Amino acid sequence: MAQKLIDLYSLVGNQDSDLKIISNTYIKKGEVIKKISLVSSPQSFATVQSGLNEHILDEMLAATNHSCSPNSFVDFTKEQIIAERDIAPGEEITFFYPSTEWRMVRPFQCMCGSPNCIGTISGAENLPIRLFKNYKFNRHIKQKIIEMMLF
Ligand SMILES: [Zn+2]
Repeated sequence: MAQKLIDLYSLVGNQDSDLKIISNTYIKKGEVIKKISLVSSPQSFATVQSGLNEHILDEMLAATNHSCSPNSFVDFTKEQIIAERDIAPGEEITFFYPSTEWRMVRPFQCMCGSPNCIGTISGAENLPIRLFKNYKFNRHIKQKIIEMMLF
């Protein structure tokens, strides 16, 4: 198993399908896990949507799994990945993909095991409206949600 030490977290696994990010330490709620650099890239299954028409390819985010009960938030206004709650050493770091993605290239069936698991993850576009209040979203997603409600 390949393991690479990158400060607060490690990238674990050796192929697309089993990559994940594991915390190396106690991370406090509100703590910055990583600064994000906004270098645009064509959208793919590995990119993260950073704006209405922008996507970035970030090695850590490409390996960070989705959870319906995420412990981090990717904040493109602050350009940071922030802990949404306390994270223990060895815990997997996750974020809620529809918080950044409007329409995903590769939708999938979520198996996060959360009691609130929402099932198919395909982007915020397909989220049931009743779930919007349960999650934090980036500005570009909020903008699209408002557009969708209005038209
Ligand atoms: Zn889930």
